[in-house]
Amino acid sequence: MEYGPAPESAEFVDAWLEKHGRRFGHFINGRFVEGGSTFEVINPATKATIANVSQGSSAEIDQAVQAAAAAFENWRTLSGHQRARYLYAIARQIQKHSRLFAVLETIDNGKPIRETRDIDIPLVARHFYHHAGWAQLASEVFEQYGPLGVCGQIIPWNFPLLMLAWKVAPALAAGNTVVLKPAEFTPLTALLFAEITQQIGLPSGVFNLVTGDGRTGEALIEHPGVAKIAFTGSTEVGRIIRQKTAGSGKKLSLELGGKSPFIVFDDADLDSVVEGVVDAIWFNQGQVCCAGSRLLIQESIAKVMYAKLRQRMENLRVGNPLDKAIDIGAIVAPVQLQKIESLVQQGIKEGATCWQPGWAVPTDGLFYPPTLFTDVEPAGTLAQVEIFGPVLVAMTFRTPGEAVDLANNSPYGLAASLWTENVNLALDIAPKIKAGVVWVNCTNVFDAASGFGGYRESGFGREGGIEGMYEYLRPNWEQHLPEVDDPGFEPRAEPALNNAANAVSAENVVSVAIDRTPKLYIGGKQARPDSGYSYPAFDPAGKYRGEAGLGNRKDIRNAVEAAVKAGGWPNSTAHLRAQVLFYIAENLQVRAREFIDRLVGDCGYTIELAEREVTATIERTFYYAAWTDKYDGRVHSTPFRNVTLAMPEPWGVLGIVCPQGNPLLGFMSLVLPAIAMGNTVVTIPSARYPFAATDLYQVFDTSDLPGGVINIVTGNQLELAKVLAQHLEVAALWFFGSKSGSEMVERESAGNLKATWVTHGKARNWFAPEQSQGEEFLRHATQVKNIWVPYGE
Ligand code: NDP
Repeated sequence: MEYGPAPESAEFVDAWLEKHGRRFGHFINGRFVEGGSTFEVINPATKATIANVSQGSSAEIDQAVQAAAAAFENWRTLSGHQRARYLYAIARQIQKHSRLFAVLETIDNGKPIRETRDIDIPLVARHFYHHAGWAQLASEVFEQYGPLGVCGQIIPWNFPLLMLAWKVAPALAAGNTVVLKPAEFTPLTALLFAEITQQIGLPSGVFNLVTGDGRTGEALIEHPGVAKIAFTGSTEVGRIIRQKTAGSGKKLSLELGGKSPFIVFDDADLDSVVEGVVDAIWFNQGQVCCAGSRLLIQESIAKVMYAKLRQRMENLRVGNPLDKAIDIGAIVAPVQLQKIESLVQQGIKEGATCWQPGWAVPTDGLFYPPTLFTDVEPAGTLAQVEIFGPVLVAMTFRTPGEAVDLANNSPYGLAASLWTENVNLALDIAPKIKAGVVWVNCTNVFDAASGFGGYRESGFGREGGIEGMYEYLRPNWEQHLPEVDDPGFEPRAEPALNNAANAVSAENVVSVAIDRTPKLYIGGKQARPDSGYSYPAFDPAGKYRGEAGLGNRKDIRNAVEAAVKAGGWPNSTAHLRAQVLFYIAENLQVRAREFIDRLVGDCGYTIELAEREVTATIERTFYYAAWTDKYDGRVHSTPFRNVTLAMPEPWGVLGIVCPQGNPLLGFMSLVLPAIAMGNTVVTIPSARYPFAATDLYQVFDTSDLPGGVINIVTGNQLELAKVLAQHLEVAALWFFGSKSGSEMVERESAGNLKATWVTHGKARNWFAPEQSQGEEFLRHATQVKNIWVPYGE
């Protein structure tokens, strides 16, 4: 059947643009202000200039941040209900002007009106409604939490208004104020949104908008008045932002690129699969971070599937995105079109087979045809690099295990889509895929109630749902923590017996009855440090207490390898993990006297204080044994016929650098939540007082803890932390130490974009429950995967 053209009128958008003289400044402190130099914004479907927009300077970013800072106190102290009213008003205004937003978005970005009208804009309104709800409930649900301050938000061009909503709604709901930088290619709907905020009377300075290119974004990132950066865009820029914000204390969430697998098993309903593929890779011209760009097909059905796909591709319509009968619109900008073309050429050069429909795309705009590659090598460019265009690359597998291996053969981990009529198979595979979202028999479905975000180099942090709210909050007590005045302790492998400063004379040796040599603890065994060196440790009065192994890079590598090998732990039942933790508590109790003596001797504690620390440690072990089978996710109410399962999953290998003080309680307060949630850990205990941790080996050995779940490397904490931060198999890293150490950890972890949790030199009180145990720790020990399972015929 042939469709006639059904173009949407641009009349109202033209009128709105004319009202502004097709020239825009920034939106600062509740009003539009003149910008300096301007750049052109084009309609990618026609290449015509739509408007001129201002290039934001550092001075303008500064004005915007100052306005947001000035507005913060009032906004923060409004009641949740008052903030909810504003967010509700925004949602209503977006619905009232939905067609204006949809047409403007289509003209600015090139995506089909069917998508902006039926997907982007409704989801934007839904996001503000949902977060009006969070604002209303904030004081109850997040009772111990408060806002961060001014949030700098940087968004890309592929879902301009939707990305704005994903960032602005939770920030405002939590009581923060915002400075937003939209993408250079697509700033127009953000400018219309600014007008909406004026219309509803949002207090001046709560929302500020500075347009411009990457330089404007950089100025925002570097501004000292910003408390949080939320970024969506390329992994490359995400990495730069991670490095630039290191040590600044700015909270960071990154939603980055992807190369998401779309897995089809041989029992799938192939006609539904074909429509799924259309939604996965030709939605928004494939310019979607979670696009199902890698088609993995079970070998037995590959031929049939390719034939069906080619037939469907012949019927797709590419062209004027304002036409309601168009499936695929224009690519956002010439540079993006060139990138797609050059990656396609590269794929052909590497030997993959390229197929495109028989018809030609219009030549008056930036169009690219739907493209299918077969005979793709899993390690080749096409399979590994994010193309961000309408290009699907197909590979085959034989067994479910092979499908998982292929799916995970990527540095990214944003999303995955699984197609099978066998629910058992789907729910077996979903947890095995390293991705923040898994869609079963559906794809590219989103909702404000369900968190979205990646694993691995697809970034960290979530947008949407309760986990998205935590990205904009912090515990209230956190800002009152004292700075650690301890500059850190740097053990040296000096030969203690000959060194005058560390002299060990007969009088200052406490006990030498039998020389005890604590080694490292790797893979459940005691291991000598690779360096062959030990370092002396002393009590606060300078008395020699013994020598600990001086671990090095190689020991950390061995420890990480052991932690990777202990892969059974994350898959063990929560009941089993709880039993092990209870058993650790039991054995700690048996040895309580030993640990009390240890703390008195090593740390100079009074007996009472040492008893208190040991008792608190045993109680904390019970506490996390209790949580192990209770911190168990949610089922979200998403407005589709869907069960949306939000599952907290362990990171994998988690590095932990422990505080210097409270060497037993501090160590266990960090290790316990991590292993309770199924992580395996590489820990660097207090360097000053290492023996409380090394005394634990025998407790672990007698508590049925599998080898490799907890690995302990003593030595110079900063040196070892750096190795952990750079290690690609360490998925997350906690650093409870100095400011400079925190900066180093954040910077060095940019390589594989590991999630970090650092304390910036603030000391927690390990006896105060709100600071030292609870959901905050469990949240940091996990990442949430959302699995969408539709139901109904
Ligand atoms: P970028 O990551 O460059 O852009 C995202 C946003 O960051 C834009 O607002 C951009 O400004 C801004 N920005 C750019 N450089 C900096 C910087 N140094 N500091 C702060 N902000 C900065 O993505 P591109 O638009 O260049 O697209 C390139 C590739 O990235 C695409 O081909 C695609 O592979 C991927 N991408 C992924 C997205 C996702 O959703 N995960 C979204 C967009 C792109 P400006 O607009 O001026 O460049």
